[in-house]
Amino acid sequence: MKKLLGIVVLGLLCCGTANAKDESVSGNEMMKTLGTEKNYVYKYSFYNKINFLKKDPTTFKKLTFKGEKIINNVSKVEKYSDVSFGKTKTFKSFKFLAEYEDNITLELFIEHNIANAGDNKICDWVVNDAYPDILKEFPKDKKYFYVVKGDDGRCEYGHGQDKKSGFSDCEKIRKAEGINGKCKLFAIGKKIILEKKDKKLKKAEKEAEKAALYYSHMFGQLPHFLKIYTKKLYIHKDIGKDDGTWWTIHGLPEIHINESNCDAQRKRKFKIYYSHCTKVMIHESAHIFEQNTKLISRSKWNKAKKLDKNLYCSKYSKFDFHEDFAESVTCWMGVRYLSNKMKKSNVKKIEQYIPNRLKFLDEMNFNMHPYK
Ligand SMILES: [Zn+2]
Repeated sequence: MKKLLGIVVLGLLCCGTANAKDESVSGNEMMKTLGTEKNYVYKYSFYNKINFLKKDPTTFKKLTFKGEKIINNVSKVEKYSDVSFGKTKTFKSFKFLAEYEDNITLELFIEHNIANAGDNKICDWVVNDAYPDILKEFPKDKKYFYVVKGDDGRCEYGHGQDKKSGFSDCEKIRKAEGINGKCKLFAIGKKIILEKKDKKLKKAEKEAEKAALYYSHMFGQLPHFLKIYTKKLYIHKDIGKDDGTWWTIHGLPEIHINESNCDAQRKRKFKIYYSHCTKVMIHESAHIFEQNTKLISRSKWNKAKKLDKNLYCSKYSKFDFHEDFAESVTCWMGVRYLSNKMKKSNVKKIEQYIPNRLKFLDEMNFNMHPYK
């Protein structure tokens, strides 16, 4: 249960367009507990007017598909209020690797809900190495090439001059290796029989790639110091049940994203969502930075906060130290690097409300690339 206490969330994405959802009821309930005193600038820091655009600088370089990945016990939060329950699920996903400037990499897991998606997909090493090697080794033979994929994802193969000997060769290895699966005819000579992927799977992979590109690009727009400690993004599929909450788990370098708000943007191209999602990604990465490094001194932060005299950048900051840090980072980044995109009166207000926390962050000398 220890893990649960560290989960931090932001009830996400509201306002801007008529189609947007307000934050969840439970998120609203939580906000009510934070008092009525108007000692903050924004309700949430991402209500600032900064408009992050896709065409803004990103350090994203390249995306590579890494195949299907089924992961057990992945954190599940459909509603903001689920955070305290520690629910988990089996997460069927496509894995991608995104590469950035300065040798930064990020793994992305895009959830899909296709049953037995991996059944027909034979391991790459069999298709790309073993099979071509056999063709090369026996150029004149019409080999019957059999393959098997086990429940655990392991593959093996066998071959022979005819169906019977090919199958039994594969079976022999299958049994020896303890693979739980069925040997299937993959190819006769150069002719591939077994469909590598079914149509549905191929379509899902394409969709997943679009999502992976969207979030990879967005992640590239985070300043350098927020990129280095975040190693994984889990994109939870929109099945019409979630409230768009994003969350992190104390001690883990991963951000969890309920896609329901962002994918509306991806599919309908509402720019406003791209910007909101970017701001939430900044907030979540700030959690990871604070919780997985020892770079932020809590006592020094509290000192700065005390000097700021019970004033906050956002109402959500009042929740606890972690939210205050993440929300303040978002506000600090706005005031110091993107103030020309903000309302002047709010820039001034933030400078008046949290000057000591801004100073604290200034003195960290963060690497802000690609921001100047
Ligand atoms: Zn948070």
